[in-house]
Amino acid sequence: MANRTSGGGKAHVTGGAGANGAGRANGANGATSRPLERPVAIVGARLIDGTGGEPIEDGTLLIEGERITAIGRRDQVRVPRDAAVIDGAGMSVLPGLIDCHVHLASPWGFNLLLRLQTPPALNLLYAVPNCAATLDGGVTTARDAGGTPAGVRMAIQRGFFTGPRLLVAVTILTQTGGHGDAMMPCCVDLGAPIGASGGDVPRGVVDGTDEMRRATREILRAGADWIKLCTSGGVLSPGDSPRSAQFTVDEIAVAVYEAAAQGKRCMAHAQSTEGIKNAIRAGVATIEHGIWLDDEAIQMMLDRGVYLVPTLVAPEDVIRIAEAKPDLMPPYAVQKSREVIADHRASFRRAAEAGVKIAMGTDSGVGPHGENAREVVLMARNGLSPMASIVASTRTAAEMLHLDGDLGTLAAGKLADVLVVDGDPLAEIDVLADAARRALVLKGGAPVVGRLAAELAGASERVKAKA
Ligand SMILES: [Zn+2]
Repeated sequence: MANRTSGGGKAHVTGGAGANGAGRANGANGATSRPLERPVAIVGARLIDGTGGEPIEDGTLLIEGERITAIGRRDQVRVPRDAAVIDGAGMSVLPGLIDCHVHLASPWGFNLLLRLQTPPALNLLYAVPNCAATLDGGVTTARDAGGTPAGVRMAIQRGFFTGPRLLVAVTILTQTGGHGDAMMPCCVDLGAPIGASGGDVPRGVVDGTDEMRRATREILRAGADWIKLCTSGGVLSPGDSPRSAQFTVDEIAVAVYEAAAQGKRCMAHAQSTEGIKNAIRAGVATIEHGIWLDDEAIQMMLDRGVYLVPTLVAPEDVIRIAEAKPDLMPPYAVQKSREVIADHRASFRRAAEAGVKIAMGTDSGVGPHGENAREVVLMARNGLSPMASIVASTRTAAEMLHLDGDLGTLAAGKLADVLVVDGDPLAEIDVLADAARRALVLKGGAPVVGRLAAELAGASERVKAKA
């Protein structure tokens, strides 16, 4: 059962309906807190609406229930008398960030000894603090790129714990010996390269079109919103090279066909040039990482409207973590990261300059959760303007996910997923990645994070007490 949004038949915000039948996108608010019963007006702030248009200085954003009801200059928006008013002087208001590539289950980093000593239930339950940290980081919607079962999405919808609106790929499809094959060189099979395995995370190692068809159908049966497959080697896998291509075009095309038959699309972990082109030829919707894009690959992406989800922060995290906590990263991964990082940034810059559609993604889970906005900063340092980097993290990401009817921009009628920061990210993009300057995160009108959230919740309680 898919949640239909008001914004177009294809979009669904959070997947399956709640047990209480709250199947509407706007009813499936994942926050543990509720939208305020009185309107909320953020007044006198800089409004960066996610479209890339000029920001509105001294603007007012009005929220009623879980939706935005007005946006404009202060003199254009009438604030209802019973509204909770936030003085937005010195602050900027943006759409909640959308991270199109996270891994929320399992501890971050890659410590094989820790992994071997972690029971599956504990491994999965790491999703609870990881989801909270992600929302704390200003990310109100995330696409999980493998290892997280659909039950995590459903638990957030039911309010068991706090987290972003979630779309999940569940399993990482890989060829034998490919990037997602968790058979270690010692012949111990970890079951899955990252996150949970078994039961509601079907096995992802497949060879040939028949196995691909069955596995894709199993993953869709398990509730996947996206199908994730590895069409090249990678950095964290011990036995392959990121320069290799994996899966044949025929194999990839079967996954694309089976996903499309159920209204779903494919995302490809694709680093090598040939792996990227094979994925595009077979019809995947998004290229993850895209480390070695040549002119032909970029043209193919432009021609077919394929999105790039760059994850610039991932190799940087591998190196950063290895320097701070060497036991959390195997030496081969550090070596591979050092080899790819400059080419990765150069590819990103070329794609950005050519006008490839870019949707923000971090690969958080490789590194810590909640620092997702560092990717926005990195994109702005490596080829995008601060404004374009924000658009990639809001409107374009929402379009890529087919959630733009409800999310991705600040506009009347959209869900009130909102990030309020101290300062001006257009002048100083780093403010987005600074937790101390994250004043408020609203998810569907519910104040979930930040010093202003407590204030708003208090205001709501006082109103109730008076009534
Ligand atoms: Zn990933």
